[in-house]
Amino acid sequence: MRALALRTGTLIPVLGQGTWRMGEAPAARRAEAEALRAGIDLGMTLIDTAEMYGEGETETFLGEALAGLRRRVFLVSKVYPHNAGRARLPRACEASLRRLRTDHLDLYLLHWRGDVPLGETVEALEALVRAGKIRAWGVSNFDTEDLDDLAEAGGAACAVNQILYNVTRRGPEFDLLPAMDARGIAAMAYSPVEQGRLPGDGALAAVAARHGATPYQVALAFTLRRPGVMAIPKAGRLAHVQENARAADLALDAEDLAALDAAFPPPRRKTPLAML
Ligand code: NAP
Repeated sequence: MRALALRTGTLIPVLGQGTWRMGEAPAARRAEAEALRAGIDLGMTLIDTAEMYGEGETETFLGEALAGLRRRVFLVSKVYPHNAGRARLPRACEASLRRLRTDHLDLYLLHWRGDVPLGETVEALEALVRAGKIRAWGVSNFDTEDLDDLAEAGGAACAVNQILYNVTRRGPEFDLLPAMDARGIAAMAYSPVEQGRLPGDGALAAVAARHGATPYQVALAFTLRRPGVMAIPKAGRLAHVQENARAADLALDAEDLAALDAAFPPPRRKTPLAML
């Protein structure tokens, strides 16, 4: 699996696994845990979660599912904006660590921008780094101007911005992804297969047919074609996990990219960053 270096120097696989809605339905937990572990064996060792998911239930599920595997995993969680102040952030982090049954997070993200001043959040995150509770920190759902504000607030160490980005939602290509490149902030593309709603026909299918691949693999390979971008598809089904893992080996050529550009045109102007 190809890896990407964060500004901290840490290498992480470009293809990981999301966990939104995982562990919420008791009847599905076992199959979901097996799918997740299979994904780790296939190299998708970057695991993304959040205290918000199932109000802690998904982190608890992960704590069980990752038993014995923690050292192989690059573990990411996200803090609610209302918990991102100097008093609440350390407590929220501790609660996530307890549920995840670990002593540190590899990356901790502010889930979206809220009312707590960014400078206060940055200070609290840096204190968690110094305390060894988190290895690195970043943000999520930050648009270009938010990143400017973050930089002004002393957030030069921000390693990642997790954003909605996929072949059907190319808005960030206009100015956000270039701004992140300039600041050394890696992109973590969420909902990279548009929450399972990708068209099964048209350009994605045509490009897939040329490679003996699937439209979902083409969509993931498209997202990963840009340096500095990783993707975290969520798949509770083993077959989906196996299909997604193979996308890391799919290289799209100029003809493929032209066909995808025609069907999913790149942005010609700024559009505000969308959120799901
Ligand atoms: P997604 O990964 O684009 O799509 C997940 C859906 O697609 C699931 O229903 C899954 O089905 C299906 N799927 C996955 N692989 C497939 C394949 N090869 N063929 C057909 N269907 C497939 O959407 P997401 O869950 O919204 O985003 C991924 C992760 O990003 C989340 O889980 C979460 O960790 C993170 N996220 C972050 C934010 C944020 O605000 N920071 C927002 C949204 C998401 P099965 O589960 O049945 O396999």
